[in-house]
Amino acid sequence: MPLNPNSDAAIRVFHMAHRFLNEFGIKWLPVPYADIIFAKHDWHLKYVDQLAYEIGESEKYVLDHVMRSKDGLAMYDPQKQQYDIVLNADNDVPKTRMRWTAIHEIGHIYLGHLDSQRKRITSCSLTREEYDQFEFEADIFAGEVLASKWIMRQIDIVDEYDIATICGISDDAALSRYKKATEDYSYTPVNAVLTIKNFGEYLKNVTICCELTEMDDFARFAFANRVTPKLAKPKHPALRKLGSCPYCGNERGQSVSSNFCVACGSALKNQLAITGRCDHVNHEHAAHCEQCGNRVYRIKQGFVLEDFETNEN
Ligand SMILES: [Zn+2]
Ligand SMILES: [Zn+2]
Repeated sequence: MPLNPNSDAAIRVFHMAHRFLNEFGIKWLPVPYADIIFAKHDWHLKYVDQLAYEIGESEKYVLDHVMRSKDGLAMYDPQKQQYDIVLNADNDVPKTRMRWTAIHEIGHIYLGHLDSQRKRITSCSLTREEYDQFEFEADIFAGEVLASKWIMRQIDIVDEYDIATICGISDDAALSRYKKATEDYSYTPVNAVLTIKNFGEYLKNVTICCELTEMDDFARFAFANRVTPKLAKPKHPALRKLGSCPYCGNERGQSVSSNFCVACGSALKNQLAITGRCDHVNHEHAAHCEQCGNRVYRIKQGFVLEDFETNEN
């Protein structure tokens, strides 16, 4: 039964991961683990030095005897009815690994692995079989929360490095997610459909008025839309729709307030010259920025914008 990705236990964890994504309103990547922990009044994020201070021991003692050399630990205090997620934030622990560990430990809590009998998930407090099963489940949970195969399948990922960049996880973790994402499935489970819907703004295609170099690692996902050729002669105002371009006839992605045609790049107002980059977010099919006239790059909104910036779009 155990450690089988097609077992009932594994399928339950998969569903719980999507319930978690929905319950915590997660709709952007990478998943913000500190915000998630902060949102629960009975969950506390602690670092090794804090825990060492609280129990009056050295950090080495906490690492060797409490966490037992792991990157993280979930603990339950039945008296206070409080869960602690303890992370090793040492400089030699990469941020990508900390993110995985945090969601793995959250998984132990969310999946109900902890109770008044099981206050910690460590190899010495459980049977070998129990411990392996809980670790297996927490890893499935972390993988599906941090890099859901269903979200990955909405994105044109080429390899595991794309997943690592997008989800903020290590290359090793990304490789196993890549294998998951590219497996064959005949249907999309209902709760994954909800997750994909919640990530709608993240996955939305837009064009951005910026230089490719400003997109850092995400520049490889960006490309420029084709420029629409101009008509032999401009359309007479009486023959065209309000806001459409007289020079190429485009009607899409611009309005009467646009300075430039997004399709052919012509100035739509008198004496407008192309100026510097303006960061404006344009229609997904735009070739030029409607505000400043520069060429724009098409990309998924979530790759270049922060979550909070999209509310107005
Ligand atoms: Zn035009
Ligand atoms: Zn612009």
